[in-house]
Amino acid sequence: NTFRFHDPAAQAAWSARAELENSLRRALQHDEFMLHYQPQIDRAGRVLGAEALLRWRLPNGRVLYPAEFIRAAEESGIIVEIGKWVLRTACAELARWQRAPETAGLTLSVNVSARQFNQPDFVPMLQAIFEHSGVQPSSLKLELTESLVITDFVQTAHTMATLKRRGLSFSLDDFGTGYSSLATLRKLPLDQLKIDHSFMRDVLTDQNDASIVRSIIALGDSLGLQVIAEGVETPGQRQFLSEAGCHIYQGFLYQRALSAEHFTQYAQGVH
Ligand code: C2E
Ligand code: MG
Ligand code: MG
Repeated sequence: NTFRFHDPAAQAAWSARAELENSLRRALQHDEFMLHYQPQIDRAGRVLGAEALLRWRLPNGRVLYPAEFIRAAEESGIIVEIGKWVLRTACAELARWQRAPETAGLTLSVNVSARQFNQPDFVPMLQAIFEHSGVQPSSLKLELTESLVITDFVQTAHTMATLKRRGLSFSLDDFGTGYSSLATLRKLPLDQLKIDHSFMRDVLTDQNDASIVRSIIALGDSLGLQVIAEGVETPGQRQFLSEAGCHIYQGFLYQRALSAEHFTQYAQGVH
């Protein structure tokens, strides 16, 4: 005794999402995720470290980028498990770097979702990973986003302070795209601001983007934070950054994200 309405388009979208979530669970069980490492370079062209970026190799060989699955992973909560895998894999790799003299000084930045960072067991989970991998956490940097920082400021600041005492450092990713106030920023134990690549694209032609980038660098300087630019694609963009006072770069001008093996070779100058 009821009416039911059927919308084929909504049904299709819902099925596609459910299928994606199932595939994400399968991907974890079948080890389909990989981390690639994008070099971070200083003004002298030296490799300082890398950012770990997640890739998903489907059984048919196609490789998916985070834009195609991170949102679904976050909304369904699977990101918590995926993020654990990311941290385990990243720390195992960092521990390998630390054991070889040529790579011992490199840092590794890892993206952490809000949902993952706010898990009550996030700190003990990380601690267990440190112990298991034998990694020195002082070379590990967690990349947080502005939205994470402002959703639950008190909890976030507390967790950050705890991890900071263990030697980790923090970078604020996609900086400039969110709404965090300067007062908020000042109260967090941050080490680095990361200029979002959306500002880099037109930095040489768009006066607004150029002003934003210059302001972020000045802000970082005055708060005593390191500033890194991502999405650096051309020598002109690097020149602009360097003149504005930003001396750490990440982008296609240098390298795309590489497999662990290729990154290690790159960092040792074998390229
Ligand atoms: P993000 O952390 O801001 O990462 C930088 C993105 O910019 C990466 O895309 C990188 O490949 C891309 N990129 C690097 N250099 C250039 C360049 O010169 N030009 C341009 N146009 N793009 C450049 P990717 O790997 O597709 O990652 C996208 C986003 O997915 C990341 O943005 C991050 O928010 C998220 N993500 C990646 N890995 C993880 C992870 O392990 N966990 C979580 N929670 N999120 C991740
Ligand atoms: Mg990042
Ligand atoms: Mg970013």
